[in-house]
Amino acid sequence: MYKFSTLRKPFVYFILGGPGSGKGTQCELLSKNLKCVHLSAGQLLRNAISNDSEHKSTIENCINSGRIVPSHVTINLLDKAIFEEQSSETFLIDGFPRNYENMENWIALMDHKITFKSVIHILCSRATMIQRITERSKTSGRSDDNIQTLEKRFITYQNDTYKIIEHYRNRKQLIEINGDNSIETVQGEILESLKKHHSQ
Ligand code: UDP
Ligand code: MG
Repeated sequence: MYKFSTLRKPFVYFILGGPGSGKGTQCELLSKNLKCVHLSAGQLLRNAISNDSEHKSTIENCINSGRIVPSHVTINLLDKAIFEEQSSETFLIDGFPRNYENMENWIALMDHKITFKSVIHILCSRATMIQRITERSKTSGRSDDNIQTLEKRFITYQNDTYKIIEHYRNRKQLIEINGDNSIETVQGEILESLKKHHSQ
């Protein structure tokens, strides 16, 4: 266990990619390999629905239509998760920020409290993502793992999330990885690229 001072400014990486690109799977492995904490923004929102939060119906409506939940809701959940977690100084935030509103509010509310590291973008073909989500839908129990919602999630990713990715690319804060390969290959490439990026 770490002892945190009031000056604690945890390290934060964002992991982005389309639905089914492998963010969750890769973050689970990264959290073990790098001894850090994986926070899935989508999972925190799904937990908030189960916990009957005051934003339950807003979150449910957004998730089921592939839209992005208003950022104050998501950021509040992430803020709590980061500052309640005491086992690591480093956090991998999976699936956030998804649009400009997310990014701008994160900067306004959180930037001064954390140390931003980089963004990992898992680039994956649509065919692979459709195949993986179709497979996952058999067991995930997720209300958004169906072809209609998936189409909408692709549109949101293309119209909104891609702009965020370009923003980080222009600032040389982006690490881009081909997500069509095997789990082990993708993991290896992420670890390698992180090492290279942060040694520069
Ligand atoms: N979502 C959101 N803001 C976030 C993360 C997720 O609004 O910061 C919502 C959005 O509707 C998205 C859904 O939660 O389509 C599922 O996100 P998740 O990242 O779990 O799905 P994945 O992309 O990993 O399949
Ligand atoms: Mg996920």
